[in-house]
Amino acid sequence: MVLVSACLLGEACRYDGRSQRSEKVLAALYGKAVVPICPEVGSGLPIPRPPVDLCGGTGVDVWRGQAQALEREARVDRTEDFKRGARLALDAARGFGATVALLKEKSPSCGSQRVYESGALRTGEGITTALLRSEGITVVSDEDL
Ligand code: SF4
Repeated sequence: MVLVSACLLGEACRYDGRSQRSEKVLAALYGKAVVPICPEVGSGLPIPRPPVDLCGGTGVDVWRGQAQALEREARVDRTEDFKRGARLALDAARGFGATVALLKEKSPSCGSQRVYESGALRTGEGITTALLRSEGITVVSDEDL
C-alpha cells in the first residue's frame, strides 16, 4: 500500500486548480494498491486557493513551532490548516497500513527534498512529509523516479 499525492494521479487539487498528473508515477505504481491523499484539500482548503510558502524554516521547523505556512500574497497564516491536513494524511497511512509514500516535490505540504521557503527554493521537506517521516514512513519524491 502506497500513500500518493493525489495531484500526481491526475486529481485537479493543486492550489491553481490543476493536476500534476505524471505518467512516470502512474507507470511506477501500476498494479500497486494506492491511497491518494491531498493534505491541503483534506484540511478543508478550497480549490483553487492562494499559494502558500513556508516562512522561517521548512516542515520540520513548523512542527517545532519555529516556522509558519503563510499565503504568498496576503500573508494569511495557514499553518494550522496545513498541520491538520498532515495529521489526516498520517491517519490515512496508519488506517491503510501504508509504510511508503510517493509525494509531489516542492510542495509546502508534500515536498520531500526541496520546498519554497520565503519565496526561494531550498533544501528541506514539507509539513506533511516531515510528520510522516517522524512517524517512520518512508517518503520518496516523484522526481526520484
Ligand atoms: Fe495536494 Fe500535495 Fe498535490 Fe499539493 S502537492 S495538491 S497538497 S497532493
